[in-house]
Amino acid sequence: MPMMRAAVVSVFGDDPVVQLVTKPVPGPGQLLVQVEACGLCHTDLHAAAGDWPVKPQLPFIPGHEAIGVVAELGEGVTGHNVGDRVGVAWLHSACGACEYCVGGWETLCMSQKNTGYGVPGGLAEYMLADAKFAARLPEGSAIDLASVLCAGVTTYKGLLEADVRPGQWVAVLGIGGLGHMAVQYAKAMGLHVVAVDIDAGKLALARSLGADAAFDAGASGTIAEIIALTGGGVHGALVTAVSTASFAQAVALVRRKGTVSLVGLPPGDFPTPIFEVVLKRITIRGSIVGTRNDLAEALAFAGEGQVKAIVESRPLADVAAAFADLRAGRVNGRLVLVP
Ligand code: NAD
Ligand code: ZN
Ligand code: ZN
Repeated sequence: MPMMRAAVVSVFGDDPVVQLVTKPVPGPGQLLVQVEACGLCHTDLHAAAGDWPVKPQLPFIPGHEAIGVVAELGEGVTGHNVGDRVGVAWLHSACGACEYCVGGWETLCMSQKNTGYGVPGGLAEYMLADAKFAARLPEGSAIDLASVLCAGVTTYKGLLEADVRPGQWVAVLGIGGLGHMAVQYAKAMGLHVVAVDIDAGKLALARSLGADAAFDAGASGTIAEIIALTGGGVHGALVTAVSTASFAQAVALVRRKGTVSLVGLPPGDFPTPIFEVVLKRITIRGSIVGTRNDLAEALAFAGEGQVKAIVESRPLADVAAAFADLRAGRVNGRLVLVP
């Protein structure tokens, strides 16, 4: 039986270990993809920690920002050829027939499968993709484009969900892998951007990527300063921080009629001040990755050079150290692993 190397999580709380596993065989409608690069998302840390209410089944292979070359076609696949480059994102597949799929909300399909969580992910030499969900890519290297597959599409969609128009203010809370892409999408979309993080290096990164202002989330005057700068609060806020405190801060930062788009997924809750939400007529909305159309739009920004992930690439063999660095907040931009 042909084997391949893959990063496998076998126990919740342990980092993945690179080991030999069976190389997958594409079934009907599937592609076998030889992975060139796969970004590391904080979701992979949640998955390995088992810290969300719905956990992956052990053992599993994480990774949902994969780019690779089609190595084999399963039965009945049309529209892809061996040798094409494709992207494999979190939304591995959806049913195509439910009210959400039919209504343009395939990301809410109850029968969806998720790459690197419910089905084996991209931290491996090979992976399977659903041919209907494999993304077509613009020109660019696999290492440069990988981060668009989750960090890019998720923040692009999250900004759309914040209901902000060009010329308005948006706050991006959390300038990690997702947030540093959010700053760039927001600028490309014609927004004024306030970046918020707890780390001085991340704030410097946000400024270098075009943020109009950057604030330390932990400083006592931050909320008042942002409200003053923006003339009453931001029109929209996008929360990508892995901290429940950041969610409460976002509610305080939006002006009347503003929208808070919740994207980060730290386990837990945050207090919602009822009086403030009602009197300010605030919308608090969850946002989950993006559809295939959202991904195509997010990729187009990258193809046109309007957004570019700040990446550090490392060999897949170093996956445990990569997990440790991301967990400790030592990553500026995104880590991309190369099998
Ligand atoms: P990351 O570790 O790269 O970035 C997290 C950032 O949050 C870091 O820069 C950190 O300094 C910052 N931070 C921590 N505490 C903060 C605080 N109190 N205020 C402001 N910033 C703070 O993580 P990532 O890969 O960008 O992922 C972020 C979160 O988004 C994760 O919880 C992940 O699971 C989630 N996520 C959600 C979706 C979705 O569809 N909703 C998709 C992808 C990732
Ligand atoms: Zn992700
Ligand atoms: Zn469906």
